[in-house]
Formats: sequence, structure tokens, C-alpha cells
Amino acid sequence: MILKGKCHCSNIAFELEWEGTPPEIPARACSCSFCVKHGGVWTSNPKSALRVTLRDAALVSKYVFGTETATFHICSRCGAVPLVTSEIAEHVYAVVNVNVLENVDQAWLRRAASSFDGEDIESRLARRSRNWIADVSFFDSKPDPLRHAKSN
Ligand SMILES: [Zn+2]
Repeated sequence: MILKGKCHCSNIAFELEWEGTPPEIPARACSCSFCVKHGGVWTSNPKSALRVTLRDAALVSKYVFGTETATFHICSRCGAVPLVTSEIAEHVYAVVNVNVLENVDQAWLRRAASSFDGEDIESRLARRSRNWIADVSFFDSKPDPLRHAKSN
């Protein structure tokens, strides 16, 4: 099936292919300092393809901290954080936020806590390239003509 997720104001939306009926979706509550503050719970499927559509890319804030190997994509209009990307050897990997999924039954989620504190950068990137979504594409949706006219 196609899992659908989006931020609260629909500026950042994504579709993620997932096998299985019903699907079993790991949901990892991350213990890093950013995810604790945001309630970040993430999932990924290395065999799946992720398509992200941005209504207004200018309203996406990208945030990095610590080792600066992960980029949090934050909607600057509504504050939701639908995805995180990590660029490893010029390839973009991603995880998505379980909390922004919209067509998912809570019973499909396999919740677990995860802590990657103390992991060195090399093993962190190796883990991401094994487990994160490896087929990630971004699309800008067509500009809204009304909005464009107003800004002129
Ligand atoms: Zn938003």
C-alpha cells in the first residue's frame, strides 16, 4: 500500500510504498535531544520508495545539530517535522515521522524506543545506509497562480 503523510498545513507531503496487508511498521521513538523536544517517532523501510512533495519549498526549514549528518525538514508554517534526511556518499537516505502518517491504523505500528547515543559517526552512517529509505525524491508542486499574482 501507499502510506501517506503530511505536515499540519499540507506544505510538506509524502507517499511511501510499503509491503504487507496489513503492513507492519516499525515506530522508533528517538531519544536524541531534538526528538525528545519534538516527540519524534520515526520509521523507514530500505526497500521502499519515498516521494516528497513541497507546496512551497521556501517554507521548509532545514535544521542540523551535533554531528550534522542528519537534516530535519521542518515546516516553517506549521512546525511539523515530517522527515529527516542523511546524505551518505552523495546518496540521500530518509526516515519519516510516524506521527504525520494519515492513513495508518495505530495497530500496524510496532513501537520501540531507540537510543543511538555513543554511536560513532562511521557506524551511524553505516546503519542509516542499511536501514533508511534509499529511494528518495523531492518534487515542487506547481506554484499557485493566485499567490504568485499577489506577491507581484
Ligand atoms: Zn506545515
